[in-house]
Order: sequence, then C-alpha cells, then structure tokens
Amino acid sequence: MKIYNTLSKKKEDFVPLEAGKVRMYVCGPTVYNLIHIGNARPMIVFDTVRRYMEYRGLQVNYVCNFTDVDDKIIKKALAEGVAPEVISERYIAECRKDMEAMNVRPATVHPKATEEIGGMLEMIATLIQKGHAYPAADGTVYFRTASFQEYGKLSHKNLDDLQAGNRALLVSGVDQKEDPLDFVLWKPRKEGEPSWESPWCAGRPGWHIECSVMSRKYLGDEIDIHAGGEDLIFPHHENEIAQSEAANGRSFARYWMHNAFLNIDNKKMSKSEGNFFTVRDISDKYDLQVLRFFMLSAHYRSPLNFSTELMEAARNGLSRIVNCVSNLSYLLENAASEQPDTPDVSSLPLELSLLQQAEDHTRRFEEAMEDDFNTADAIAAIFDLVKFANTNASDSSPAPFLKALKSQIIELADICGLLVEKKAEGLDQEIEALIALRQAARKNKDFARADEIRNELLSKGVVLEDTREGVKWKKI
Ligand code: AMP
Ligand code: ZN
Repeated sequence: MKIYNTLSKKKEDFVPLEAGKVRMYVCGPTVYNLIHIGNARPMIVFDTVRRYMEYRGLQVNYVCNFTDVDDKIIKKALAEGVAPEVISERYIAECRKDMEAMNVRPATVHPKATEEIGGMLEMIATLIQKGHAYPAADGTVYFRTASFQEYGKLSHKNLDDLQAGNRALLVSGVDQKEDPLDFVLWKPRKEGEPSWESPWCAGRPGWHIECSVMSRKYLGDEIDIHAGGEDLIFPHHENEIAQSEAANGRSFARYWMHNAFLNIDNKKMSKSEGNFFTVRDISDKYDLQVLRFFMLSAHYRSPLNFSTELMEAARNGLSRIVNCVSNLSYLLENAASEQPDTPDVSSLPLELSLLQQAEDHTRRFEEAMEDDFNTADAIAAIFDLVKFANTNASDSSPAPFLKALKSQIIELADICGLLVEKKAEGLDQEIEALIALRQAARKNKDFARADEIRNELLSKGVVLEDTREGVKWKKI
C-alpha cells in the first residue's frame, strides 16, 4: 500500500509501526455551526481510507477530535446568550447526524478538547521544563519555535522567510513573543469566556496543543498516520509536530496525509468567504450517498470543484451501480425459486471462468486503492464490473453465480462506503409499491391510471408482464 506523505513529498510504502495495526488521527471540525461540504471532504476521504485498510485486514484505531473551545464558539454563545457548551454540544450532535447520513463511521474515539485540559497543562509544563516554551508577563505561554530545529519540515517552509513575514507582528508591540514564529499554547482568560486554572494564569488552551495531547493519549507518542485538509499543514500540523516531538522526544507521525480543497467556482469553500453549502443544504436536494460518490469520484489530493453538473453525473454513476445490484437481486430471486437443485458454482465451469474474469476488476480496484487511495480509478473498476455483470447475468444464470457477482459489487461499493444494497432494496420496494398501485387501479377499472403507472415504471427501466400467475417485472 502506497501513501503520499506530505513530509517527504513522495509516495511511500505504508509500513505500520505495529504489524496489522494502524494508529490514525484526523483533525476534526470546530463545532460552532453545521458542517459544510468542504468539511465533509476529509470525513469521507479518510473514512474510505480506514475502510480500505480494514478490508486489507488491518485493525485501525481511528481518532477524530471535536474542537469545542474556540473564539467562534464563544462568539456564537455570547450572541445567543447561552453557555459555550450549549453551542458545541448542539453542533456535535448535528455533525454526528451528518456523518451518519454520509455513512461516515464514528471514530474509535471522538475526544473533545474541553475534556482533555489536564493533559494539555501537563504537556505545556513539560515543554516549559525542557526549555521549549515560556510564560510571558501576562501568563500567556508561548512555544519557543527557535528551540525546535526542524520547524518547517512538514510545510517545507524556510524559517528565515517565515520569520521575515511575521516580524511586523513583533514590531507592533502587541505580542510579548521572543520570536515572531512563536505560537500560543495557553492564553489568559477574557471576560465572559470559559477558563481553567493553570500555573500560569486562568485561561484556555491555544488550538494546536489539543491535537498533540489527544493523539498521545489515545494513540501513543508515535502514530502511523495524521491527516486533515491541506489548509492544516501550516501552521496547525507544523505546530503539532513541534509540540509533540519537543515534549515526547521522538517522532510524532510517520505519514502525513492531506486532502485538497473542495472548491466552488475554483475558490476554496469556507465559512468565512460565505461561499459554502452545508451538508444539510445538499441533503434537501440529494441523497447524501450521491455526495459521497461525488467526493470519491476525484483523487483526494486533487482539487474538486462543486457543481450541479458533477452532482448529476454522480447521481447517474451511483444509479448505474444500484440498478445493477437491484437487477441481480431480482434475477437471483427468480433463479433461486426456479432452480432449487443448482450445484455449487465450483462445478459449473463456464460460470467459474466468468467469475475469475470478474475478479480481474476487483484486482484493478485494489491496485487503484493501493496506489495512494485512487478512488477515481477504483470507481472506474466498479463500473467495469457492473458492465461485466450486466453483460453476463441473465434469467438463465445459475443462482450461485448471480449471488457471487452481486456480493462482489456490494463488497467493493461498501469499501467506498456506498450503500448500494440498501438503495437497491429501496428501489425494489418502490417498484413493488407502484405495481400494487397499478393493480388497485385496474381493479377499480381506472385503466388510464394503470397505464400511467406502467409508463412510469417503464421510465425506470421496468417492464411489466401480466401473466396468469400474476404480474411479473423485469429490468431492461
Ligand atoms: P475546520 O472546522 O475549519 O477546522 O475544518 C475541519 C476540517 O475540514 C479540516 O480538516 C479542514 O482542513 C477541512 N476543510 C475545511 N474546508 C475545506 C474545503 N473547502 N475543502 C476541503 N477540506 C476542507
Ligand atoms: Zn489538529
């Protein structure tokens, strides 16, 4: 399995620290609003990475935090006249609903920053003790960037350039930093803000320290994968590395994965720009499985531009897979009742060789995923498998063959988190319901309505056949 590592700027073979196990940390959202579909991109992408690793037999310990103490949360709480935790708890609950609707599995642990303050105080104290951090006169604690030789190694930034860019801040005299690149670990309380006691002042943590602490607590000093959107490379992840490596005295994360932006009109979708759609907005128009399919139709390191055309293409692409599964279920049901004594597929040479051909598509799917999770190519391999099934499955196919094809498609779709079987069942139920309505119309001698329903079914690719045993239907 190859992973592109932001640290080395190369694709590297993935070798976990402990054989068969993966320790993975993904930076989660700041919970002050409904999540937008830009935030959904890392959720879907890294959930798919996790699913594929599990498919390969790896046991993934997956940690994703909620940042529940932050200026924006406090601002919203003040505006609504409620406590900050009312805001954060509300949006954590909403975020979990969105995740479920996108079929993003809950992490092994979802730690919250406010519940990990003790660990943060401890790490800050260690950093001060080791000379990597210092308290200023007002109790603000800063990380001493100059003490960490490798600062800049993730973002591949040059320290001198960074310093020059930030010098203006120092000159302004607002800061009490030793160096413009020093960043806040702990800051003093302001009126009306949540705060915790500390040896330096009553206050609250800076943003970066929470991830270093939660990652260490739930996964250990050194982890396999740390991930997030590419806007987090600098300063957030650079600062996390500095804190963790300075405090723990060892390397922090071996592979750094970053998804590219979800754009709109080629500009990053973001709350501050106001150019965003929430996941909830999208769910009014589309099944969120379509959103998931859309996200995976591009490689995670390529920018993806949101558009109605691409969403429509995603809807059609997903339908192709769902229709195929629904058709296979239908054929299977008939075959199972009509051929009770069919032998196992291993004694059917023709079907066996067809299934071996079908396996080639699964191999191509795996090859695509092994190559830094190329979901675009992986989905193309699913399409080829669907085409193969559409060509080779018929009402004379033996049941075990149909069953094997169907489960192969479902398995690959499931690695992508696409619930095609459930959707196919929904489609079948819809068809059955329409057939029942048509029967009722016929009974009432409302033939115009019955014909209308027949045409509606036809538009869904379903042909009806009125037989003596009742109505039979077939997908075309
Ligand atoms: P935030 O709540 O802004 O801290 O973001 C949560 C996660 O969403 C982080 O991993 C961000 O990098 C990611 N993210 C935010 N906006 C976008 C976007 N437009 N495209 C892709 N990822 C994004
Ligand atoms: Zn983080």
